[in-house]
Amino acid sequence: MSQMKRQIERAAEAEARRPVTLADLSAEGVDVFCWCNRCGHNATSATRLLVAQLGPAMAVPEIGARMRCSSCGSKDVATRPAWPSLGMVTHH
Ligand SMILES: [Zn+2]
Repeated sequence: MSQMKRQIERAAEAEARRPVTLADLSAEGVDVFCWCNRCGHNATSATRLLVAQLGPAMAVPEIGARMRCSSCGSKDVATRPAWPSLGMVTHH
């Protein structure tokens, strides 16, 4: 009984550690925020375009490795979900 509980807890931990994928953002209607670590250039990329290019299973933090800064050409680009900030909820 207690072993089963431990297995469930372990599964929940794995779920929490699973990186956010493009499919997740697509479902939430959230785009991807890109930040160049070299020059600070930043932009938001449409999730649906990234899904078309990279596939829905792509983990959001890994997208940066596939990108290049459009400003300075650096490949040191960080990506994260562009979650809408609290209090800025928009209704479509
Ligand atoms: Zn740059």
